[in-house]
Amino acid sequence: MPYVEPGDTSELAAAVRKQFEQAYDDSPAVVARAPGRVNLIGEHTDYNRGLVLPVALPHATYAAVAPRSDGVVRIASGDSGSPFTGTIDALGPGRVEGWATYVGGVLWALREDGIDVPGVDVLVHGTVPLGAGLSSSAALECSVALAACAVAGVADSPTLRQRLVAACIRAETEVAGAPTGGMDQTVSLLASAGHALLIDFDAGGDATVDVSLPLSAGGLALLVTDTRVQHALVDGGYAARRADCEAAAAALGVASLRQARRSDLATLDDERVRRRATHVVTEIERVSATVSALGGSEWDEVGRLFAASHASMRDDFEISCPELDLAVSTAVSAGATGARMTGGGFGGSSVALVPVARVDAVANAIDTAFAGAGFRAPQHLLAEPSGAAAVVG
Ligand code: ADP
Ligand code: MG
Repeated sequence: MPYVEPGDTSELAAAVRKQFEQAYDDSPAVVARAPGRVNLIGEHTDYNRGLVLPVALPHATYAAVAPRSDGVVRIASGDSGSPFTGTIDALGPGRVEGWATYVGGVLWALREDGIDVPGVDVLVHGTVPLGAGLSSSAALECSVALAACAVAGVADSPTLRQRLVAACIRAETEVAGAPTGGMDQTVSLLASAGHALLIDFDAGGDATVDVSLPLSAGGLALLVTDTRVQHALVDGGYAARRADCEAAAAALGVASLRQARRSDLATLDDERVRRRATHVVTEIERVSATVSALGGSEWDEVGRLFAASHASMRDDFEISCPELDLAVSTAVSAGATGARMTGGGFGGSSVALVPVARVDAVANAIDTAFAGAGFRAPQHLLAEPSGAAAVVG
């Protein structure tokens, strides 16, 4: 069974270095990598001040960066999109177009935060599928942020990481215009190998806890299936869900749905808003329950929580789609312990907890089901819980 491979870190660092040399006829000063992520559970809870439980993928984006003395910024990708040329003092909102907004946005946000990033040449290349709900955008931002700080001579530290999380969120929301929460950037910069990262958005960005994920001890693997249905966060669905959540919080008289109690939800008159709020409130409970179940290696309970989460996203929050529903139901019939859609929804990926011996069979069953339904062939990857962004060359 072919899986999308994460690639070897030193080989990919060497490859991006070579691409940089070909593009700019010069050597990069720094290469940094930052991972994509798969969220185990806790969807659309981040902007409701809730809990999320993502895992950093072994798949990452690699950014090669060299400083320039003339203030010019050049940005190129080995994966997609055309190169961009501009200047370091003109990269803020509205100044860059297309994919390069993520990179220009990071350089701008770092300078807004007082980090003296000079003009730079940037080349990125990676193995996180683009637009698959696995956060290639945060992988891109965080790899560039870490490399740019190294070029600017700022030492890595936990405090710097917190600032980078904030800068990358600003790049994505204020410059690229995607109204996301903060899960993706936080896990990409703070994850620990072998662990999921519990993030509590009611307590500020530094409220993270490593949650041990002893998959191999349980004889299990995380199978991620990219349905190849492109989600687009700048489309209206995400913003509409956010607006419904804000309306629910306002009607309940609470600052955010994190403060809402399940027993209060019946007072919401608008049926759609009530279902949206029900998803958020119950999903936050399921994140806590998943952390408890993982603590006791109660994998069947994790599987039940995945199933309940998927049903909530399909029926109450209405962010699933036929391809995601088929991937999830097929995974479970073929032997997965649990499966759910993951990420913002409207396409993207599913995640399944699968006994190691059943992984190929589950992936094959999903391929067969997709072919039978006339859907585009999906692609699969294995999410070995991996570590945070790092300078690698
Ligand atoms: P996701 O983060 O789930 O992959 P997004 O829509 O948030 O989906 O981000 C995907 C976008 O990020 C791409 O369409 C592209 O603009 C940009 N992007 C991410 N990684 C790269 C890369 N390596 N090269 C060029 N663009 C990239
Ligand atoms: Mg993204």
